[in-house]
Amino acid sequence: MNEVDFRQLQQALSEPKNSVIVTHRNPDGDAYGSSLGLYWFLRKTGHEVTVVSPNDCPEFLKWLPGEDQIAIFEADPEKGKEILRKADMVFTLDFNAFHRLGEVMKPIMEEIKPVYVMIDHHQQPDDFAHFSFVDPSMSSTSEMVYKFIDRLSMSELIDKDIASCLYAGILTDTGSFRFPATTSATHRVVADLLDKGANNSDIYNRIHDVNTYNRMQLLGRALDNMVVLERFHTAYITLSQNELNRYKFQRGDTEGFVNYALSLKNVMFAVIFIEDKKQKIIKISFRSVGEFSVNEFARNNFNGGGHINAAGGRSDLTLKDTVKKFVDILPTLSNDLTLSS
Ligand code: 5GP
Ligand code: MN
Repeated sequence: MNEVDFRQLQQALSEPKNSVIVTHRNPDGDAYGSSLGLYWFLRKTGHEVTVVSPNDCPEFLKWLPGEDQIAIFEADPEKGKEILRKADMVFTLDFNAFHRLGEVMKPIMEEIKPVYVMIDHHQQPDDFAHFSFVDPSMSSTSEMVYKFIDRLSMSELIDKDIASCLYAGILTDTGSFRFPATTSATHRVVADLLDKGANNSDIYNRIHDVNTYNRMQLLGRALDNMVVLERFHTAYITLSQNELNRYKFQRGDTEGFVNYALSLKNVMFAVIFIEDKKQKIIKISFRSVGEFSVNEFARNNFNGGGHINAAGGRSDLTLKDTVKKFVDILPTLSNDLTLSS
């Protein structure tokens, strides 16, 4: 965001506003962490604020300070619409295209005309925001919220709650500080969040040490279903709705499964296909190591997008046909799917 725009936004924020923070469907740690971090900050600066999420979060995020005050749009669309219609400013966090909100919430966002402020770290944003604080090189939207507060020269307002939310978002979106987007600057931000009261060990445990027996069994099934295509340095996993049901799938249970496929030696491209009978789609997660852009792959073939090394998409075909479509594309990319030595 250039200096002129930033001053204008700063001016707009200097008077109390009726603000709403919106994040993407199937919210992850960064979606909720960044939204709630910004929520507490805006409240401290005198704004009326509500966070609206299209649907609920996984169990391992329920402890986040303020999570219980988030309005779940799909649980009560009329209330959600009322909140959004009253907003002067809508902050959109951790996504950059309205279709990420899902079919139920998307129409109201297209209808209302608030001042839109996008804070995000994904590539190729749609053009709906009046103010865009966007940097695809950033580890997470939570890191960007920290930078945003810092640029407003208000980082002294970051308290334990804000620090804990932002820390949780950075922790989850960096795969515990190991993904390439984790920079020395990220670590400096994190160091400051610890100084401001975030408890790193406690937050890690709340997010990661909450496995259930069913989830472990589902992981076993997923690993059993894994197919390795050595020629393309690719591995993929499938999970059908029946399999999910058998292990009493809960939201968030498949988080991280795709990384097992990616961790195989000589695999540079990993995918998980998850059948969702209710939404009548196959939800797909793509991961890569190195130069191969799964953002491009997801965009070109599966109505998706994301980052170079982590992206998502969807398919309206059956699980079997989706996998077939995927496998049939690979030979056209064999030049890109080679390991650089
Ligand atoms: P995940 O595979 O964990 O759902 O998502 C990986 C990354 O891709 C995340 O940064 C997420 O925001 C993005 N992503 C996931 N699904 C979609 C999608 O359907 N469309 C787009 N544009 N991005 C997605
Ligand atoms: Mn994110």
